[in-house]
Amino acid sequence: MPPIARVEPLTTTRALRGPFDYRLTEALADADVGTLLRVPFAGRELLGVVVERATSSDVPDARLAEPHARVEPAIPAELVALARWIGEEYCSTFSRALQLVLPPGAGRGVAPRVRVREVLVAEISEGGRAALADGARLTAGQRAVLARLADEGPLAAAASGADHGSLRRLSSRGLLVLEPRAQRRRPAVHAVGARSAHAPALTAEQQAALEPILAALAGGEASRFLLHGVTGSGKTEVYLQAAEAALNAGRSVLVLVPEIALAPQTVARFQARFGDTVAVLHSQLGQGERYDEWLRLAGGEARIAVGPRSAVFAPLADLGLVIVDEEHEPAYKHEGDPRYDARRVAAYRAQQARAVLLNGSATPRPESVHALSRIRLTRRVDGRPLPPVEVLDMRDARHPLHPTTREALGDVQRAGRKAILLVNRRGWSNFLSCRHCGHVWSCPQCDVALVLHQRDGALACHHCGHRERIPQSCTECHSSSVARHGAGTERIETELLEALGDPDFPILRLDADTARGGKGAIARVLERFDRARAGVLVGTQMVAKGHDFPDVTLGVVLDADQTLRFPDFRAEERTFALVAQLAGRAGRGGDGHGRVLVQTLTPDAPSIAAAARHDADGFLAGELERRRALAYPPFASLIRVTCSADDAGDASAAAQAVRERISVPGAMALGPAPLFRLRGRERSQLVVKAPQRRAAIASVAAAVDAVARSAVGRRVQLSADVDPQ
Ligand code: ADP
Ligand code: ZN
Ligand code: ZN
Repeated sequence: MPPIARVEPLTTTRALRGPFDYRLTEALADADVGTLLRVPFAGRELLGVVVERATSSDVPDARLAEPHARVEPAIPAELVALARWIGEEYCSTFSRALQLVLPPGAGRGVAPRVRVREVLVAEISEGGRAALADGARLTAGQRAVLARLADEGPLAAAASGADHGSLRRLSSRGLLVLEPRAQRRRPAVHAVGARSAHAPALTAEQQAALEPILAALAGGEASRFLLHGVTGSGKTEVYLQAAEAALNAGRSVLVLVPEIALAPQTVARFQARFGDTVAVLHSQLGQGERYDEWLRLAGGEARIAVGPRSAVFAPLADLGLVIVDEEHEPAYKHEGDPRYDARRVAAYRAQQARAVLLNGSATPRPESVHALSRIRLTRRVDGRPLPPVEVLDMRDARHPLHPTTREALGDVQRAGRKAILLVNRRGWSNFLSCRHCGHVWSCPQCDVALVLHQRDGALACHHCGHRERIPQSCTECHSSSVARHGAGTERIETELLEALGDPDFPILRLDADTARGGKGAIARVLERFDRARAGVLVGTQMVAKGHDFPDVTLGVVLDADQTLRFPDFRAEERTFALVAQLAGRAGRGGDGHGRVLVQTLTPDAPSIAAAARHDADGFLAGELERRRALAYPPFASLIRVTCSADDAGDASAAAQAVRERISVPGAMALGPAPLFRLRGRERSQLVVKAPQRRAAIASVAAAVDAVARSAVGRRVQLSADVDPQ
């Protein structure tokens, strides 16, 4: 009996559930879990992954098909197991989850789209070394080439300084070896604030923080830590030294950062310390580069993978340490099916590999404080106190900048220093309305207001991308009196340019519109701000992320309560994190006169007051108490089911049908409730709150599948989101 491979075909169709059995021909007899195969399937050819081997099949022999061919490289078996878990944990399918762990470039069609690049390489032979040493017959040119190869090691022929003919002649005399070798495309290294390769002596606090981590690494048991350290307390140095210990123990390291463009410093510091052992994985790399970095990891040439959430699928063997930097960042959650949370996947991977999990943040999530063993770093490495935070009441303000803010910005300019301004909204103003009849300009596809983008001369929908011209008059009553409400990054930038901007005091903007400037656009703005002697950086939350600009003395949050207005149980946490993170950016250098201003309509909100006192512990304790009382995570799991359809009745009927099918002890279903229309689709949502996670996920998945197959389900698109953000 020939061996059988159980193959999961890579399709996105939910209805098609594998695995399917194939008979392995002799040529493919060694195909094992993780091998990619081209298989015949319903008259087509599909790419599939072997998920199991078997010796017999329930399918009659005559009907068993044979795979056509193998596709290299294979996926490590460990990642196949990870995909199986993700498919279940996030109410998705095994097949969709497998597509997350494929080598870059595979899976789009049946053939891999990326190939190994080969170049001709020259390497000196023993004979060549001898010839150099004993002064054999060599021309000056030949001697120079051999000496260089002896010195620098193997070189690409094109870079060796000799022409092909000379290299061939040396090769035919046995003095060097000339052969094509695989060449890895390497991503460029960004040098923003790169540090030296040498580890500094740790502070006493860092040393104490590192100890339990090293002990856990030595113990070889899975353990989970939360490194809770104020901004500038030297968390990265703790990561680096923990990584070194893991490497020395022969194990590999996974480092997750929220967004690569916003974390060039972290990446650069790992590269500076560990050199080629570091592979960087992210979507801004060319496909060839990504493929090669993947191969370097899979082959063990690189032992540290650094990247954003998708790097959690890096093909690392012998994982010893998993680091999740800035663990509070919502960017770790993936918004396409499977809706995985890289932080949870990282924790699971660490657990399976008996590795140490190390989450780090200045503003950790209540979930992590609850579940991980917390290590504290309470002081900045430079010994400076955190800057004082002043809360500015905006309830009577007529201008988007409070007088105190304007004064403080003037001070910064006169002193030749830097400021960071956080505005929670990009564009010019939040919405337009008619002063005469009250008409509000909104998106024809989505029930949301359009945002004015003055420079583009357009109104834009931030949900679907719809754009239209700026109106001259009201479409309803033809009045030409149109009011602009609120202030976005574009307007603040313009106001500052008018008030303060000059060649020595640049005003720079950083938001999603900047990012559309192409590959590296964000890094360029950050570099310009870093290099400038003085100036202002205005932007959305991006400006409050992990940058380390030594000379920022003023931080301003313009509308701190904006995040509070979201109807989300995480609103408090987000607001606290935003203010506290920005506070951490100010007053790092110079003579240390840092100052933080927080403009808000709700000066008494607990999250804002706690952030102003730098009281993370008080905030976290209060927040955990509130979550316990309301049965929110980490005391229960949330699963959101969204139904969208052309017809609002269908959407809510489907959500109601899902609700009726869910039966989990202690679970509570909220809804169906209508959601705002998105891209022309009516939506209805159901939120399930349950203390028993596994049972709730299984029940929701079954309910969604059943409703999707029902009569109403055919007119509705259903999606389930476990741990929605
Ligand atoms: P965090 O990640 O906690 O915000 P960083 O790791 O960026 O803090 O450290 C802040 C600064 O202190 C960085 O410039 C870093 O190079 C420096 N630093 C960290 N640890 C030490 C140390 N032990 N000795 C000297 N400088 C340090
Ligand atoms: Zn009008
Ligand atoms: Zn829209």
